[in-house]
Amino acid sequence: MIDLEGACKYYEGDIWALRDVTFSVARGEFVFVSGPSGAGKSTLLSLLTLQSRPSRGRVMLEGTDLSRLASKQVPMLRRRIGVVYQDFRLLYDRSVFENVAFVLRVLEAPESEIRRETLAALERCGLKDKAALNPRQLSGGEQQRVAIARALVHDPGLILADEPTGNLDADTGWEIFRLLVAAHERGTTVMVATHNQAVLGRLPMRRIHLRGGMVESDSAPMAGAQAPPRAAAKDRLEQIKDLGGAGAGAPV
Ligand code: ADP
Repeated sequence: MIDLEGACKYYEGDIWALRDVTFSVARGEFVFVSGPSGAGKSTLLSLLTLQSRPSRGRVMLEGTDLSRLASKQVPMLRRRIGVVYQDFRLLYDRSVFENVAFVLRVLEAPESEIRRETLAALERCGLKDKAALNPRQLSGGEQQRVAIARALVHDPGLILADEPTGNLDADTGWEIFRLLVAAHERGTTVMVATHNQAVLGRLPMRRIHLRGGMVESDSAPMAGAQAPPRAAAKDRLEQIKDLGGAGAGAPV
């Protein structure tokens, strides 16, 4: 689904945010991108969300070379991705329902479908009774759940999340990861950039670790091997829940 080949991103001032990054992510995988601040995580995600283009190398999404994409093709490809940011990026001049419905309106879905799918996405994220509220009336964790409902509502093949728990406390952070794992359970490919050690230490997913813009390590199985069974991550989350409290008191 994602193929990077020698991808580089250069900024003026001799800053190489990414250097020669090569890896592939198969459809249906759940991948963490980790690394200290400044390692290049956000830059990597920005290539995949088509907010920037590589200075060198190739970035492929479902077989499409993103560095060669014509500008007019960008919106169409973006609609196949759901994106979650650290700072939520909701629209505060409209209701929770309209924030989530927005993508379907852009896609010109029929009104009945917009209502059905928006309510289903809100329900999955535990927000059905908040649909009529303004996002400002919600807690940070609830606002991030709105962002996840918005990312999921049009059933994209890929969800990209950039430090989705960066502004949240520990227990709220685990709720967000539970929703991302649930999306993965339903078949969505998920890539999450985070330097959250509690999460990285407890969830057994593939981890691509960046340092200085380069891949320092990649826990991917050998080429041709199967991705780790999805059930493993879900079981782990259940164990955490069983320990008591959403995150068993672990800092997130
Ligand atoms: P991370 O998300 O891992 O914290 P970033 O991808 O944000 O890292 O940044 C990687 C490097 O690229 C850093 O040195 C950062 O200062 C630099 N960088 C990121 N965006 C820009 C930009 N728009 N202009 C110049 N330098 C940038």
